[in-house]
Amino acid sequence: MTALPAAPLPQRRAHEGGPLPRYEHFVAGSWMPPGGGRYLESTDPTSAQPWYEFARGDEDDARLAVGAAYEAFHDSSWRDLPQSRRSSLLRRLAGLVHEHVEDLALTETLDNGKLLSEMRGQLASLPAHLHYYAGLAEQLCGETVPGPHPAILNYTLREPLGVVVAITPWNSPLLLTTSKIGPALAAGNTVVVKPSEHTSASVLRLAPLFEEAGFPPGVFNVVTGLGREVGQALVEDSRVAKVSFTGSTHTGSELAASCGARFVRTTLELGGKSPHLVFPGADLDQAAVGIVAGVFAAAGQSCVAGSRVLVPRSLHDELAERVVERARSIRIGDPLEPATQLGQLATAQQLARVEEYVALGVAEGARVLTGGDRRSIAGLAGYFMEPTVFVGGDNRMRLCQEEIFGPVVTFISVDSEDEAIDLANHTRYGLAAGVWTADLSRAHRVAARLDAGTVWINTYRCTSPMSPRSGFKDSGIGIEHSAHSMAEYTRLKSVWVETREGFADDPFVLRT
Ligand code: NDP
Repeated sequence: MTALPAAPLPQRRAHEGGPLPRYEHFVAGSWMPPGGGRYLESTDPTSAQPWYEFARGDEDDARLAVGAAYEAFHDSSWRDLPQSRRSSLLRRLAGLVHEHVEDLALTETLDNGKLLSEMRGQLASLPAHLHYYAGLAEQLCGETVPGPHPAILNYTLREPLGVVVAITPWNSPLLLTTSKIGPALAAGNTVVVKPSEHTSASVLRLAPLFEEAGFPPGVFNVVTGLGREVGQALVEDSRVAKVSFTGSTHTGSELAASCGARFVRTTLELGGKSPHLVFPGADLDQAAVGIVAGVFAAAGQSCVAGSRVLVPRSLHDELAERVVERARSIRIGDPLEPATQLGQLATAQQLARVEEYVALGVAEGARVLTGGDRRSIAGLAGYFMEPTVFVGGDNRMRLCQEEIFGPVVTFISVDSEDEAIDLANHTRYGLAAGVWTADLSRAHRVAARLDAGTVWINTYRCTSPMSPRSGFKDSGIGIEHSAHSMAEYTRLKSVWVETREGFADDPFVLRT
C-alpha cells in the first residue's frame, strides 16, 4: 500500500495527448493500486473523451478491502468509541464536505453530465445529511421492556452489524452514497463503497476527508471497477454483514438472491415508473411545472422520474400543450453553463436506450408531440436528448411499463379517479407518485391507495434526510433516510436478567 497523497483533480479536456490522472482504491486509509495492475478510463460525456483512469478491482482487491473493514470493525479504536465521538467524527466530516462542495460537484458533473447547478445543490445538502445521522448516533439506544416479573429485567441492545458493502449507480453518486454510509457509520458499522464504473471519482475524492476528520483507517474504504467483477466479489465475501444497493431492479434482484441464500441483509433502492395523477380542478400550471421537474430535470435520469401522466380525458390536450410549451423552451446545453436546464445523458449506451424507447413508443401507437430526437450542440460531443412528450399512451404499452431513465413522458387519458389509481398501481414498480388536485379529501384518499413509497401532493421531487424513502414492489426492499434507516444498520438483542439472588423456578415450565 502507498502513503496517502492528495487525490488528483482531473481537469476537463486538459489531458488530450498526456497521461490521464489516475485513481487507486482507497483501503485502510491508504491508496491501494489494483492487484491485477489494470485500470479503466472514465469518459466526460460532454467531450466523449476519457478524463481520468481508475483501478479495475478484482476478487483479491475486494478481499483486501473487506478484510480492512472487518479488522477496523473489531478494532477497539472504532468498536469501543462512544457514540458521541462517532457523532463528532460525522460532524467534522460534514464540515470538510462543506468546504469541498465545489470540487465534488464539478467532479460529478464531468463524470455523469448532469447540470453543475443540480450537483452543487445535491452536494450542498450532504453536510445536513451527515449532521442528521450524527444526531441519530447520539440517540441510538436500546430500551427496557416490562418483564413477566418485577424482579426480571429485560432490556435491548442496538448493535452494529459489521461490514456494510454500499453499491451505487451513476446518477447521484455522493448523495446516494451518503444515504447509506451516514446511518451505517452512525450505527458503528464499517463500510466498503463500490461506485458505478461511470462515476468513481467523487467518492475517491471524498475518501481522504475521512482520514482528515479522524475516522480510524479501515472504517471507510472504496474499491472501484466493474459491478460484475469487484462488485460481485464484495457481495459474495462471507465477512460482509449487509449489502446496501441502489441501482436497477435487474441487478438488485440478482444481488438479493445471492444475499438471501446466505441470510445477508439487504437494503435495495431500485427502479421506478412513477405516475402523475392529475384531477379536475387542479392548478394545471402548477401540475405542468411538476411534470417538467419530475421528468426533464436531470434529463430524466432519476429513479423517481414521473414518466406517466394520468389525466382526465377532458384535460388531456390542455395539460399536454402546457407541458409541451415548457418542454420546447428548455435550454439544452453544456452542463457547466449556469443557464443550461437540461444536460446530457451519462453515456452513449443510455442515449441509445432512450432512442430505442422513443422508436418503440411510436411503433406501439403513441404520438410524439415534441422532442424524440437526439440534439447536437456546437463544440460538444455530448449525448443530448430532446425533452420528449408522448400523447395517446396506453398503460399496457412497454413505453408505459418499463423504466426509460431519460427525458420522456407519456400522457394517458383516464375517465375516473378509480381508473387513475388502478393504472397508477398497474406496474411492477412502486417508488413514487405525484397527485395534483385542489380537493383535500381526494388528495389524502388517493395518497392512501397508491402503491408507492413516496407520494407528493401538488409538488414533486422534495426530499429530506428526515423523511423515509422506500420502494414498494419491484422498486426495492427496506428504508433509506430517516430514523427508520438506522434500524436497517443495526441488530436488536434482547437481554434478560434475574435480579433475585439464588432464585430458581420450576425448570420444566416456560417463564412467561
Ligand atoms: P445498475 O444496476 O446497472 O448498477 C448499479 C451498481 O451496481 C453499479 O455500481 C454497478 O457497477 C453495480 N453492479 C452491477 N452488476 C453487479 C453485480 N453483479 N454485483 C454487484 N454490483 C453490480 O444501475 P445503473 O448504474 O444503470 O443505475 C440506474 C438504475 O438505478 C435505474 O434503474 C434507477 O432507477 C436506479 N436508481 C434507483 C434509485 C432509488 O433510490 N430507488 C436512485 C437512483 C437510481 P458498474 O456500473 O460499475 O458495472
